[in-house]
Amino acid sequence: MSHDHAGRLVRAARETDAAGLAALLVAPGPDLLYLAGYDPPPLERLTALVVRPGADPVLLVPELERPRAQASPAGSLVALDRWRDGEDAYAAVARLVPTGRLGVSDRLWASHLLGLQTALGGSEFVPGSRVLSRLRARKDPGEIQLLSRAARAADEAFSRVCRESFAGRTESEIARLLGDHLVRAGHDSVAFTIVATGPDGASPHHEPGGRTIRTGHAVVMDFGGRVGGYCSDVTRTVSVGYPGGEVRDVHDIVTLAQEAAFRAVAPGVPAEEVDRAARQVIEEAGYGEAFFHRTGHGIGLEEHEDPYLVQGNAELLEPGMCFSIEPGIYLPGQFGVRVEDIVAVTDGGAVRLNHAPRELAVVA
Ligand code: ZN
Ligand code: ZN
Ligand code: ZN
Repeated sequence: MSHDHAGRLVRAARETDAAGLAALLVAPGPDLLYLAGYDPPPLERLTALVVRPGADPVLLVPELERPRAQASPAGSLVALDRWRDGEDAYAAVARLVPTGRLGVSDRLWASHLLGLQTALGGSEFVPGSRVLSRLRARKDPGEIQLLSRAARAADEAFSRVCRESFAGRTESEIARLLGDHLVRAGHDSVAFTIVATGPDGASPHHEPGGRTIRTGHAVVMDFGGRVGGYCSDVTRTVSVGYPGGEVRDVHDIVTLAQEAAFRAVAPGVPAEEVDRAARQVIEEAGYGEAFFHRTGHGIGLEEHEDPYLVQGNAELLEPGMCFSIEPGIYLPGQFGVRVEDIVAVTDGGAVRLNHAPRELAVVA
């Protein structure tokens, strides 16, 4: 899949200007991958893409990484500049950017920022996400296609793992099987596999461990990987054997909350409204205290990125935004339930990218 990096760079320069910034400094990480298709590991040697209004972008790289940069899409897209070991990389940046208000990408290491602050004394440094997160939040059709492929592969992994026998196995064993299924179903790599059985389900970010899964347990599975750089992230809660009454009730409430939030999604709706829609259902059912995290997060090249569906975020949803909707109810010492889909905002409302059944599945 080839992305329109040239168009993204033009938009970034325009938005940099509109935000009143003299330049934007982008370090290795998702911002650099997004803008220039270059994804080196972040290291102590500085690599920085310099985006300036009214001037061509320049990618400053350590001399020894020049061939690597040249071979990436960035090599044919932007001018390369280099610095050698023994030279001052920060002084090299200072030669490229005027003193002023400078945006820096979120993933720029603090050590590099401190070096830049010294070399560019008199400049003011602000979060580059003011420019970049808005660009990245609105996915183009190619990106939505990759997110959709990733979501479908995650759905397929879920349907495959449900055919495994759960009772008598540990969380770690199921987590490992889930990882295998993610790759077999089409992911390039596994990002995470949360498997939380019985009382462990009450911890939303539980690290799968040695607890044995028993008949009667609710098991929360939250997992994802990458396809073409784009993330999947889906959660389903299953019952091992016939579910008890409270598990069924709580699962119904969470599913209704998920649906209410999905229906609240439309262009022009404040992000926090989607959170409120899910929360209202859970509060009215008397479980308000047990839903103690935001309703969702944007997703793309990162598992968590803007926009966040959280109280206090009045940002308006726009077509192309993709995010999770993942309400949950967590009852300490007992169990937890979470249901999560990725959705995309369209002109008319929203579409789900995940299609795994949301009803409470019963596994063996
Ligand atoms: Zn999470
Ligand atoms: Zn998740
Ligand atoms: Zn999520």
